[in-house]
Order: sequence, then structure tokens, then C-alpha cells
Amino acid sequence: MSQNILVINSGSSSVKFSLFNMQQQIETASGLAERLGSDDAALTVKWPGDQTCQTLTDSAYGTVLKRIIAVLTEQQLLDSLPLVIGHRVVHGGEFFSDPVVITDGVLDRIRQCSPLAPLHNPANLAGIEALAALYPDIPQVAVFDTAFHQSLPAKAFLYAVPYKLYEEQKVRRYGFHGVSHQYVAAEAAARLGISEQHGIISAHLGNGCSACAVANGQSMDTTMGMTPLEGLVMGTRSGDVDPGLHQFLHQQKGWDVETVTDMLNKESGMLGLSGLSNDMRTLEAAASEGAARAQLALEVFCFRLARHIGGLATSLSRLDALVFTGGIGENSRFIRAQVVANLAIFGFALDPVLNAQDGDALGRISAPAGPQVIVVKTKEELMIAQAALALI
Ligand code: AMP
Repeated sequence: MSQNILVINSGSSSVKFSLFNMQQQIETASGLAERLGSDDAALTVKWPGDQTCQTLTDSAYGTVLKRIIAVLTEQQLLDSLPLVIGHRVVHGGEFFSDPVVITDGVLDRIRQCSPLAPLHNPANLAGIEALAALYPDIPQVAVFDTAFHQSLPAKAFLYAVPYKLYEEQKVRRYGFHGVSHQYVAAEAAARLGISEQHGIISAHLGNGCSACAVANGQSMDTTMGMTPLEGLVMGTRSGDVDPGLHQFLHQQKGWDVETVTDMLNKESGMLGLSGLSNDMRTLEAAASEGAARAQLALEVFCFRLARHIGGLATSLSRLDALVFTGGIGENSRFIRAQVVANLAIFGFALDPVLNAQDGDALGRISAPAGPQVIVVKTKEELMIAQAALALI
């Protein structure tokens, strides 16, 4: 029997999954069920050299998850049911600082965190509950996006609002992308030979973006806050804005809280600034052809990121390296060059030849002197699979 582990990320209208063979530490298949709940719901399953795409007439989580397992079995990617199922869960509040085997008590706590992540936790729960009903004998493990940041000191996680809002409603900064920051910082430390004592800043730049200060393997500060809206400029999310903006837009345009929040989540960021796209590749292409608003959006993105990295540095006692990861961090030579140029005051300097080839054998793209800059491909799903295997 193979050591197969299924990793699930269930969202409100999609289910992403990856299948790993842990004996070989490889991903054997991955896929996406998307547009769930609509008439054109579809399932795509990919494996080396091939893929299948099917329409889904029933979008219930149970039906979709059963179909995913059926396709994996039909294609002989699974020879028996998975050993364990690992779930990416967005919000673990102050309950979880590590991955856990899912029990009724764990489900209850994930449910208690739902008000903090109303779009994500209920969908994560629905996926877990559907699989538990279908395959009660397969253990399930939850890995939380927030867990790595539970080491933040109070000075970094508290907002300066009445303290009782923290005591009563748990209003505080939690941070996200924890699985990615933890992995890429550890990987960078190992590659650069600074495993024992280090100060590293990681920048996870994808559709969602966040940066994190890591001291000796522990998260000290991060840019996302109570929700994934705080911090850096992202694809469609604004990142930091003045909290007074809500009242101003309410008074000037009559918008209610939901309208403003929706605008900040879905119509802002690179899309809002450029008026063109949330996709970095599209924006870089447009900027190089002279589109002024795309150029401006790129400038704001890089400046805000550098500004936050400067702020994160204050939580470290030494600064050894800056790590780039995520679709943008791993691939955009332009963004990396601009951000590093904005950080010259910290002694960062790029090697343009190494940047153009996405790094040397270790991923380094910096000049030899000064703190290092390194590109590390994130492996969130594999990390979840390893955590799930370690727990059973
Ligand atoms: P992710 O959410 O990690 O998949 O990242 C998605 C983002 O990465 C999108 O904005 C893509 O445009 C961006 N991206 C992927 N490849 C490149 C590339 N070669 N150059 C610039 N941006 C890229």
C-alpha cells in the first residue's frame, strides 16, 4: 500500500487538492473543482503527462470530494484510500499554534473562529465534515494559516483600540500564509548556512501578499492582521488604508460597511490602481508598453512592500536575508529588482545576472556583500502533507 496523503483546501466555491506519495515525497496529482454552486461547475484533475476535465452537476461538498477520489482511483493514481487527509484551514484564532488531528473538539474551535474568517472557515469546515461522513476511518489533520504567527509578541499583535475588544472579541492581529513563511524561511536558513541564529524577512507575493519577520524560526511580526486584508498591496485587496476611509465613503457616497469592505477586497489593489488587471504578468506587459496606470500600480506595489519590509526589520536583532516566494516572488524579476532597489538603505544589493536566471543553485540573487536575497519556491501543500503524516 502506498503512503498516499490527500491535501484539501476547500473554499466557498472551489475545492483545491493535491495527492502526495510520501514514500517518494512527490505530488502525484492535483486539481481543482471550481465554480461550485453555479451551472458550469467543473472538476479538473491533473497528473504527470495528462489531465481530465469534467462537469459537475451536483456541487455538494460530499459529492465533489467523492468524485475527486473516484477519478484518482480510476486513473490508478490511488491504489487504496488515502492514509490521512490534510486540510488547509485559514483561521485557528488563538487556539492553534501547530497542526492538529481533527476531533469534535477541534471542529468546535474552528467553528468558534468562523466570525474571524467568515468566507473561509465555514467552507473549510464543510469540506472536513463531508469527508468525515464519507470516510469515517480516514484520520484528518488541520493545518492553520495563522498558527505560525502565534509566536508574535503582544506589542506586534495588539491594535491600539480599547483592550476589552481583544479580551472579549479577540480583536488582534493574527497573520496568514504561515505555512509558506515558515517553510521558506527555514529553507533559506538551511541553504544559506544560518540555521542556528538568524533574522530573515520572507515576502510571499501571489494573488494574496504578505511579508513576515522570522527570528530563529519564529514569526516575530507579519503584515496581515485580523483578516488577510491588512498590509501589502495585493491583486484585488487594498492592504492598509486609513480606517477613516469607511466613514468618508459612507458620507460622500452613501456606501454601507459591506459595500466598502467588498470594494477593499475585490476591486482594489493592483486591479483598482491600474484599472486593468489584478494579474502581475498582464500589468508588467502593459507597463512595458507604456500604460501609465500599470506603471503607477507597480510603483505603489514595490514601494509599499519595501516600506513594510523596513518596518518588519525593527522586530529583528539581525538581518541576514530577504526571501521571495509565491507566483510573483518566484517569477517576477522586475518586482524583485524594484523592491531590492528600494531597500538599498539596509545594504541589500541585487546581482542582476543572478536575478535574471531566478537565482544560483541555492536561489541567491544578491551581490556577495550585505544581507542575502534568495528565491525559494513555496511548497505549502507538501508541508501540509508532511504535517499530516507526522501526526498519525
Ligand atoms: P500565486 O497566487 O502564488 O499563484 O501567484 C499569482 C501571481 O503570480 C499572479 O499575479 C501572476 O501574474 C504572478 N506571476 C506568475 N508568473 C509570473 C511571471 N513570470 N512574472 C510576473 N508575475 C508572475
